[in-house]
Amino acid sequence: MPGGQEPSIVLAHRFLPGPVVNIGRAVRRWRARGPRLGCYQPVSTLQLPDNTPRGSCVPAVNFHSHLGRWLTGTGAWMEPDIGLVLAIMQETNTEAIVNLDGRWGDELEHNLDRYDRAHPGKFYTFCHLDWQRLDHPDGPDQLVRSLERSVAAGARGLKVWKDLGLRWRARGRRILPDDPLLAPVWETAGSLGIPVLVHIADPVAFFQPVDNRNERLEELRRHPNSSHQKGGLELFHQLLSSLEHAVADHPETQFVGAHGYHPEDLAHLSSVLDRYPNFSIDLAWAHIQFGRQPRAAAALITSHPDRVLFGTDIFPLKVSTLRTFYRMLETQDDAFPYSDEPVPSNGRWMIYGLGLPREVLELVYRANALRLLGLGRRSGATAR
Ligand SMILES: [Zn+2]
Repeated sequence: MPGGQEPSIVLAHRFLPGPVVNIGRAVRRWRARGPRLGCYQPVSTLQLPDNTPRGSCVPAVNFHSHLGRWLTGTGAWMEPDIGLVLAIMQETNTEAIVNLDGRWGDELEHNLDRYDRAHPGKFYTFCHLDWQRLDHPDGPDQLVRSLERSVAAGARGLKVWKDLGLRWRARGRRILPDDPLLAPVWETAGSLGIPVLVHIADPVAFFQPVDNRNERLEELRRHPNSSHQKGGLELFHQLLSSLEHAVADHPETQFVGAHGYHPEDLAHLSSVLDRYPNFSIDLAWAHIQFGRQPRAAAALITSHPDRVLFGTDIFPLKVSTLRTFYRMLETQDDAFPYSDEPVPSNGRWMIYGLGLPREVLELVYRANALRLLGLGRRSGATAR
């Protein structure tokens, strides 16, 4: 080719004013820029040891699991094959699982029949409350009676989902955990001796603008309904304060903040644990947060070892993801992915092992859960 030049097509648009477009040059520039960021799937070049345990080092009680039907949307059980669940428990040294999907009435009975009654000591089902009843003049009484019936039937705790605070309205207002209408419920849970596991709010990033600075932008693009940017951080802090007021007002009731409660701010979390002896947290899907600040997270857990509960929120259960939790809690491994996906679904970061001491792991994996379930010490699966 004369002069070694690539051919270029020069277009001079006949109708529009403006610069002449050299298509060949534009294509070369586009190619030089490389793949679009949307296709970016970087693979780490670090060569690192992998000390992933096969199971937890002590028998674990998984305090946050979903085995019921209400989340599937099809009426099918979340875990259609109980034999498989039992095999996974055996393989990963899981002594027992808390099933948070009991609902109430007949649905609770079905859950108790399928899990707690069929496999004693392996499953503990929590009930829910029907918040719609709050609109009735005697709504709080109805809720108290429902809770008493559920516990008499065999429910081992009360699960409160984030729709309380974010969505439920009654008597012309949004109902927050410290609403006076709910005080009798928290009081009854305390007198019945059952824990109240509360999923309040959502990750902080869901309350921030969905823009190029949001660390969970890709997730929020996939699930735009997860965003609470309209309420903003003001709503986030309102939800957290309201739960803290409820915890403060009911010192005889044991509350558990799901998903690490506020794992993005361990200084705040630590101060809440210090202030309220009746407040604990579970680690359900919080390994993605604790594991990216391993030194601070290990310090928080070792300074509050009796207030942190192992839990996963993996549904259906998956051995490889369970093992990632054990790797985070037990090893000192560096920079490993929290997910099997090429691009992790909750944010592009790696996690690190906390290397917690065994005496702390015994509490986090097992003893704290048994205490809150009112079970005390008992023998279980094998220690490793
Ligand atoms: Zn959950």
